[in-house]
Amino acid sequence: MFKETRSLLDKLNHSPNKKLGQNFLVDDNIVRKSIEMAEVEADDVIVEIGPGLGVLTRALLATGANVRAVERDFTLAEHLRKNLIPEFPNLQLTEGDCLEHPRAGLSQKQSQFNFKVVANLPYAVSTPWMDAVLSGPLPQRMVLMLQKEAADRYCASNGTKAFGAISIFLQSAYSIHSRHFVSAKCFYPEPKIDSVLLRLDRQECPVRFSVTDRDLVRRIFTRRRKQLGSLCKSDSNPKAYKWFEQLVAAEIKLTVRPEELSIERWQDLAATVLQD
Ligand code: SAM
Repeated sequence: MFKETRSLLDKLNHSPNKKLGQNFLVDDNIVRKSIEMAEVEADDVIVEIGPGLGVLTRALLATGANVRAVERDFTLAEHLRKNLIPEFPNLQLTEGDCLEHPRAGLSQKQSQFNFKVVANLPYAVSTPWMDAVLSGPLPQRMVLMLQKEAADRYCASNGTKAFGAISIFLQSAYSIHSRHFVSAKCFYPEPKIDSVLLRLDRQECPVRFSVTDRDLVRRIFTRRRKQLGSLCKSDSNPKAYKWFEQLVAAEIKLTVRPEELSIERWQDLAATVLQD
């Protein structure tokens, strides 16, 4: 697959764009593994972010699933339009930014039904993209290739360094089903970082955080070494003072650091209603 990728890139006169995180999958086993982990079925609707040269896309399409993909790179989008769409009418491609099209153009109405995400994500935008996904209709399952550090943050437990706002938002809506280490050798060009394939399953009753709560949690975590009590007391958002009062009422030590509080406690704080 390595040779095919090199010669396709030569044919397209395209050099992998580092800024767009273009590390293409060149390992059949990982393509297969992604599809197995997602348990793709013929009537599935699959969203793919950054189809690139179309290696994973082709395998997804071959299952009979309907694939919606969003690709930012013009040359690669053109290649997919010319070479994949004529063969696979079950592919719909949006050329653009996944932060503007986090569900690859799936309409609000279509998103009400179950859909999955399978993607080798462009690492630079994985967290803002995840934020966008968590603010809209939630996919039933996601199988994502991620930078190991990002996967560590998504899966982190409270009391660890990697624990942060995204750990809280993601694990409130998804269970971490499995993770699989992927060697840099599975990509061309080889990235200088480790990668992880992560399967996330939507919880039966996913808990969501409002935009205001997410902003507040993120702001608190920018000062993660400070004490939570004083952070909540001094924040200009009136909800933060409510959180302070709730910490007191629940007899939680005000000296606790944001990273020490459990996800359930953060959910309790977010459930606080501001009265007039
Ligand atoms: N899926 C292909 C594979 O597995 O070989 C390519 C994966 S590569 C890691 C990431 C892909 O995302 C590239 O094709 C890149 O052009 C595309 N990309 C980067 N930033 C993007 C963005 N903001 N929106 C949509 N696609 C993007």
